[in-house]
Amino acid sequence: MNARVKIKIKFLLETMILYIEKQALPYSQTQNIINKFKNATLIHIDNYKNIFDKNIWNHKLEKSIIIAKLNSSSVWKTPPWYWHTDNSYFFKTSINCIFDCSYCFLKWAFKNSMMLFFINYEDIKKEIKNTIIASFPYVRERIQDRVIKNNHLWFYSSDYSDILSMNDLSNFSQEFIPFFEKFENTMMEIRTKSDNITPLLNLWFIPKNTEIAFSLNPQELIEKYESKTPNLEKRIKAVNTLLDKWFKVWLRFLPLLPVQNYKNIYKDFIEQIKTNINLQKIHSTFASWLLYTKKDYSTILKKYPDLDILYMLQKEDDDFYRESRKVRNDFYKMFKELDENCMICLDD
Ligand code: SF4
Repeated sequence: MNARVKIKIKFLLETMILYIEKQALPYSQTQNIINKFKNATLIHIDNYKNIFDKNIWNHKLEKSIIIAKLNSSSVWKTPPWYWHTDNSYFFKTSINCIFDCSYCFLKWAFKNSMMLFFINYEDIKKEIKNTIIASFPYVRERIQDRVIKNNHLWFYSSDYSDILSMNDLSNFSQEFIPFFEKFENTMMEIRTKSDNITPLLNLWFIPKNTEIAFSLNPQELIEKYESKTPNLEKRIKAVNTLLDKWFKVWLRFLPLLPVQNYKNIYKDFIEQIKTNINLQKIHSTFASWLLYTKKDYSTILKKYPDLDILYMLQKEDDDFYRESRKVRNDFYKMFKELDENCMICLDD
């Protein structure tokens, strides 16, 4: 694990306040988290929303975690243009992230950035299972029609946090990777910038139904825009360790950032990837640029007026802010040269 993240977790362990919903108390997962914070102050609350949804941000809250029971849906359908198939879902087990990427939508999606863990895993698994059961007739029908080649259902676990980085608290991998192994034609993606792969290596099997998608960017952009994340070298090391153990690994190049001198920066980066990772062993590659809706763009601009990358985007006719067509074309060419099968998404 990244040394800075380790230090942060150690600091949190010593000074933490845990807000625990009363209804979350009987769950073993709650106890697992409490046990990690021997010196923490425990505060019992009625409903996590009383804290999480309020604008009561201050220094103390920054060192706080909320443990809650998720009573609403944990699974929801992806937009139609999203990724592998048109039959895929997000699901959430936690919200917010220990990393601090400048461009991350979590910065404006919620009223504060406290880590929130949901602990009723069995309810979440039940909802996923029901979704799988309900989806299979649809998948079979589509296969017979030969409409889609990829007959898998996909579940994306990391839309609201970097799941792997906080695995030591959540036990996510130990809980959900074996769970997904029970199903045919069903895949889970864990997307991460973390090099905390120990929980994966400590599994007693190599998962068939989980893919680890490493998000990579050039080192100088990691330093500038992906605060607290492991450096590129550590991420590449984690990729290679998992490949050596026959894990299914994806590379995700996102978001591609249109900084000054981007062509040279990304050219060197691609060389680094080609030199240090055996692309033959990579399951697939994916590249995507920075994209904001008009509303999100104005929210983040208000909050972070000094964030330079915002001024490198332009609004297009569909009301999305993205990099210019020229920059997108340059990136397209570069990443297709790296891997002709590279999936390049979120164009227009
Ligand atoms: S690692 Fe992902 S979830 Fe975490 S701050 Fe960065 S972009 Fe957001």
